[in-house]
Amino acid sequence: MKIYLDNAATTKMTKTAIAAMLPYMDTIYGNPSSLHSSGQAAAEALAEARQRIAQCIGASPEGILFTSGGSESDNQALLSAAQIGQRKGKRHIISTAFEHHAVLHTLKKLEKEGFEITLLDVHENGIVLPEQVAAAIREDTCLVTVMYANNEIGTVQPIEKIGEICRAKHVLFHTDAVQAAGHLEIDVQKQNIDMLSLSAHKFHGPKGIGILYAEEGIPLTPLIEGGAQESGRRAGTENIPAVMGMAAALEESCRHLPEHAEQICALRDKLIAGLSRIPHSILNGDAARRLPGNVNFCFEGIEGESLLLLLDDKGICASSGSACTSGSLDPSHVLLAIGRVHDIAHGSLRLTLSKETTEEQIRYTVQAVTDAVDYLRSISPVWRDLVNGRREYILRGE
Ligand SMILES: *Cc1c(COP(=O)(O)O)cnc(C)c1O
Repeated sequence: MKIYLDNAATTKMTKTAIAAMLPYMDTIYGNPSSLHSSGQAAAEALAEARQRIAQCIGASPEGILFTSGGSESDNQALLSAAQIGQRKGKRHIISTAFEHHAVLHTLKKLEKEGFEITLLDVHENGIVLPEQVAAAIREDTCLVTVMYANNEIGTVQPIEKIGEICRAKHVLFHTDAVQAAGHLEIDVQKQNIDMLSLSAHKFHGPKGIGILYAEEGIPLTPLIEGGAQESGRRAGTENIPAVMGMAAALEESCRHLPEHAEQICALRDKLIAGLSRIPHSILNGDAARRLPGNVNFCFEGIEGESLLLLLDDKGICASSGSACTSGSLDPSHVLLAIGRVHDIAHGSLRLTLSKETTEEQIRYTVQAVTDAVDYLRSISPVWRDLVNGRREYILRGE
């Protein structure tokens, strides 16, 4: 049995998305910048895809820039906003401590260039409050960037409210919506979003393609210089097959969003209930205000990496943090941000579901995780100390 529960890392492409790409590698392979009919056919497809994607998020097609994915979109959004701020003498940026590294590392770079960064604390439930944002905004704030949903603990942020506050104070608002797309409704108008990042491979589209939405009138600084593609905002021949796959995947996920969300939520809650029965365990992030498919637990007295390997042996693909930080021994910055101490943050497990996940897989997973945690504790010196009272439990439970 192979059970894929790492959909926050990447997803399997749908048949529709794959089928949508094929003609653009085979018959309609022209360069959209070419003036001949083959090129123009590609240019028309590109324009049409831009329109369809814009519609899914309530944007105008002019606001859609195709990029290589979420990381690039985040980088360009932040660097562009910083440049706009710079011109007005505004060099203060507000974000949160639990953003994706594509945001955090770009902020570090801006800090070295003289920008002042305020990283808001995240509450233990993994939610940032609009009031925190309001209180942090200053005269010289040029950007607020807060993710829509967190990639590790799945918590959903009150972005509409945050956007409203930013609008009122004339501060640009960017949101990394990479995890939200396909699972939560996105409407840039209604949600007061100025800039937004998406990545196709997180919603069953191809890898290496994404969008940066920027409301008309917000000048974007190109990260890649060259030709005049994408209205001068990003040089390089457009990746049309990937764009077509992304458009198909986004439309498909938006069309089925409510029913898939309901189905996945039901399974998620069964998984949470099952894993909560493991003693000295804790669910990370708010139980209700989280992505339909996200489950993230800490188990006292074990190492997340050992748990992953045992689960992999049982055919379950899981994660102990974000893929980018796995492989390093540092505990997740997200779990530290919500106040988990190092010892506990090390024993974390993230399971992320998709519409392909079945009830049987969830039952099997609950049993497999329970057995694996039992086994790892039976050979853990830390656990022995806890049981013998030589060390205090951090997580309560029976
Ligand atoms: C995956 C992810 C990214 C990076 O997207 P890529 O397309 O892989 O570059 C950025 N932000 C969040 C929240 C993500 O989950």
